[in-house]
Amino acid sequence: MSQENKSIHEFDFNIICEYFSGIERQGPGSPEVTIKALSFIDNLTNESRIADIGCGTGGQTMVLAQNAPGKITCIDLFPKFIDMLNENVRKRNLQDRIQGVVGSMDNLPFRDHELDLIWSEGAIYNIGFERGLKEWKRYLKPGGYIAITESSWFTEERPDEIQSFWNDAYPEIDTIPNKVAQIQKAGFIPVANFILPENCWMEHFYHQQVEAQRIFLQKYKENPTAIDLIENQRHEALLYSKYKEYYGYVFYIGKKI
Ligand code: SAH
Repeated sequence: MSQENKSIHEFDFNIICEYFSGIERQGPGSPEVTIKALSFIDNLTNESRIADIGCGTGGQTMVLAQNAPGKITCIDLFPKFIDMLNENVRKRNLQDRIQGVVGSMDNLPFRDHELDLIWSEGAIYNIGFERGLKEWKRYLKPGGYIAITESSWFTEERPDEIQSFWNDAYPEIDTIPNKVAQIQKAGFIPVANFILPENCWMEHFYHQQVEAQRIFLQKYKENPTAIDLIENQRHEALLYSKYKEYYGYVFYIGKKI
């Protein structure tokens, strides 16, 4: 890559990061669903070791820390997200419970059998669901849990427009029974799964972005990356309202055998 391309790339990266750091969370979710998913997990104590992978700025991490015992290590690729998370942790005086670390989900800093729980909301798609299940499993103790959200089809068939959008964005999207079978094949008991309600997408994600988009477009009105980014976000929100019967996020909870 030429130096010029590299700096353009880095600039794009910073802009995308700035946009997503301006909103409460970086993917669909809510405190209620984090707590509901936690209700299926029964092995946690003050000594438990938890990983929150692809944590973003830590929206779900704080909910986890308030509702479960144990120590949480949060991993995200974007240093700015980790800085914001650690700042928030300091403000809330939770340093002995939560630590944010910059890192990649394909090279995690854990030992085999170290973890009691792996948490990951709206992030495993970055390496793919099946690959993530397979690679992360070794870090869990036998009897440890994994709790992840993943985009999934709700029906056997769907309109072409949404099918082709997802084929392009994330071809590994699949139906709930197929995802559950993948969890079982990867060596987990599929303990539970449930569909995230619509408010996780609308109130907690897309509506949060309306004001952020206005401010962002004012600041970067001449910038093609910023304009493209916001167009994409608006298009996604529109598709969601049109096709929400056909797809969404599902929380999958598995227990390592
Ligand atoms: N869990 C948060 C963020 C979800 S967005 C929430 O639900 O709000 C997905 C996150 O995955 C982003 O923060 C992104 O920076 C992170 N990410 C992308 N690729 C990654 C990788 N290879 N390793 C770690 N984190 C990654």
